[in-house]
Amino acid sequence: MNDRIVSGNLNDEDSYSEGGLRPRRLTDYVGQDKVKENLIIAMAAAKQRGEPLDHVLLYGPPGLGKTTLASIIASEMEANIRITAGPAVERPGDMASLLTQVKAGDILFIDEIHRLGKVVEEILYPAMEDFSLSWVMGKGLQAQSINLKVEPFTLVGATTRYSMLSAPLRDRFGTVYRLDYYDQNAMESIVKRSAGIMNLEIDHGGIAEIARRSRGTPRVANRLLRRVRDFAQVRADGRATQQVSSEALGLLEVDHLGLDEIDHRLLATIAEKYDGGPVGIETLAASTGEESDTLMDVYEPYLIQLGFLNRTPRGRTLTRSAYEHLGITIPARFIKAQSSMWDK
Ligand code: ADP
Repeated sequence: MNDRIVSGNLNDEDSYSEGGLRPRRLTDYVGQDKVKENLIIAMAAAKQRGEPLDHVLLYGPPGLGKTTLASIIASEMEANIRITAGPAVERPGDMASLLTQVKAGDILFIDEIHRLGKVVEEILYPAMEDFSLSWVMGKGLQAQSINLKVEPFTLVGATTRYSMLSAPLRDRFGTVYRLDYYDQNAMESIVKRSAGIMNLEIDHGGIAEIARRSRGTPRVANRLLRRVRDFAQVRADGRATQQVSSEALGLLEVDHLGLDEIDHRLLATIAEKYDGGPVGIETLAASTGEESDTLMDVYEPYLIQLGFLNRTPRGRTLTRSAYEHLGITIPARFIKAQSSMWDK
C-alpha cells in the first residue's frame, strides 16, 4: 500500500514534487551526523588520492534519504550518477551493459539492491573487486565467454533489507552505513527547510506538530506538509499554526505519534485476535490484508522503534505501551510481571 499517507515508500505525488525538496549538498542534508562525518573523510581521502570512492552500501527504512545521499555523494565527488534499481536489471546482459557504460569516477546507484537476481549479482562481483567483467553469452555450442575491463567507478547500493543481501555482495562494499529514523530536532529542521522551499507560512508550533507526526521520516514529513498546506489554504488563512496543522493531520487520521488507521488495526489485531502474540508475520499479513513485505519494511520498524512491538523468534508480540496507546485494557500478565518486579 504505497498510497498510505504515513508510508515511507515513494508514491507518484512524491516523485513529482520531491525534486525541488531534495537537498543537493551535504551541508543541506539534515541529521545522520555519524554517516555524514564518515563520508566527508572518505570522500576527501579518495579525492586526495585521485581514486574513486570505495563502494558504499546504505540501508534503512524507506524515505530516510538513501537516494538523496547517493546524489549528494555524486555532486560532492563532482561525478556523474546513473540511477537504477534491482528489479529493473533483469538479465546479466543488462548489468554488463550498465557497467560498460560507466565512465571513470562515475557513481552507479542501485536502489533495492537486495532484489537483484543471483546471476545478475554475480556479474557485479569482479566489477566491484577489480573493475573487470566476465560473463557467458549464449548457450551450448554457441556460448561465448566475454571478458572486459570496466572503468573505475563507485557502486552505491541502497536497501531496506540488509539481511536479504547475500554475504558475497555485502563483503564487497568498502563501507556500510545504516540510516536511522530522525529525531525531533532534525525533523523540525527538515520541515522548516521544506516549508521555506514551498513558500508556506508556518510557525514553530506548526513545524513541531508536523515533525512529531512524521515517524522520523523526511519523505513522510514532506507529504504531511503538503497536506497541511492545502488545509491551511482552504480552511484557514494560509498560515500553518500548531492548531491548523493538528486539525489537518487529525482529519487524515494521523495520530500524535504518526500512527495511522492501519498501524492501529495492526496493533489491535495482535491484541484482540492473538492475545498480544506471539503471532507470525504471514498470519498478520493475512488477517490485516497487507503484504508481509510491506509490514516488515514500512510498519514494523517504526512500531519497534516506538517500543510498541517486539520481534521474537516465535513471532511478533505487543508491549505494555502499545496497549496503553491503544487504550485497551492491559492484560494481567503485564501487571503481574510488574508487581513481581516490585516484590523483589
Ligand atoms: P530513500 O531513498 O531512503 O527512500 P529519499 O532519498 O528518496 O529516501 O528521500 C525522500 C525525501 O526526503 C527526499 O526527496 C528529500 O526531500 C527528503 N530527505 C531525505 N533525507 C533528507 C535529509 N537528511 N534532509 C532533508 N531532506 C531529506
